[in-house]
Amino acid sequence: MASSNPANRTWQIQTSDFRLDRYKLNVMAWFKKTKKPIAAATKEKPSRVPEGLWVKCPDCDQIIYNKDLITTLNVCPKCAHHFKINAIERLRVLFDGEWTEYDKDLASTDPLQFTDTKPYRARLLASKEATGLKDAIIVAEGEIEGLRAIVASMEYGFIGGSMGVVVGEKITRAIERALERKLPVVIVCCSGGARMMEGARSLMQMAKICGALARLDKARLPYIAVLTDPTTGGVTASFAMLGDLNIAEPKAQIGFAGPRVIEQTIRQKLPDGFQRSEFLLEKGMVDLVVDRRDLKSTIAGALRFMLPTPPAAPIPLPQTAAEIVPQA
Ligand SMILES: [Zn+2]
Repeated sequence: MASSNPANRTWQIQTSDFRLDRYKLNVMAWFKKTKKPIAAATKEKPSRVPEGLWVKCPDCDQIIYNKDLITTLNVCPKCAHHFKINAIERLRVLFDGEWTEYDKDLASTDPLQFTDTKPYRARLLASKEATGLKDAIIVAEGEIEGLRAIVASMEYGFIGGSMGVVVGEKITRAIERALERKLPVVIVCCSGGARMMEGARSLMQMAKICGALARLDKARLPYIAVLTDPTTGGVTASFAMLGDLNIAEPKAQIGFAGPRVIEQTIRQKLPDGFQRSEFLLEKGMVDLVVDRRDLKSTIAGALRFMLPTPPAAPIPLPQTAAEIVPQA
């Protein structure tokens, strides 16, 4: 029963395709090109923070000294273009100093033994080597302008910052830890959406995180979502849009489906700046668009406003009347 074997079937299809190709080649010989076709321009890679000494701003073409870029938190000093930064650099931007990392060793077990163009396991391994992380998120506790907080920071370099079981679990644990310790939560979103290599399990993370956030809300603890370039798919459709305050970085792409898919579906040209932070601010989808250099102070200010005020310590009274200095 050779034909019932699926492997044989693929082989048969392949051979018939091959014959068709040969036939095409015979016909095409009449029009054979003698010159080499002009090679298509290679697509420029999205700007990552570069390794060299100098870097060219993709927006204003300014040549910037790399060390200057560190002092400006990877924002172009001339045009304020925001270079992409990784999850650890995010934590450095927000925290005052040291932080404690949680659930560092949580890693995906490839529950579906998934393979597309290459096995999911191989993708995981490559991302682990490239980023030094076990999955696309770091959860840490530290201080933001002296205020203790739990920050979850997503790593785009790890399979597009996609949300699988590990990302979902780590965020949920972060929120539960915040509930126990009565701390605010900040999630820095940077994601292509749910991780489809984990199928429905990745989609279930949306509900799980939202449930935990509802408990945080009931406990009257603040949650701030920071939306960076890009924040899309299942992440936008769940926790990225649920902050007590949703702060976006300038010109970040934020949306659910990509603009090409939407254009094809509605058969209309989309307006300029569609799915960008400023456009979404105008439409009321985000609360603030904040420059990265002001992000920490903005978050700290908001937390000070939202956190329950601690019982004020009694102001010590002056021991003697002599201590009271009369105002001039
Ligand atoms: Zn620039």
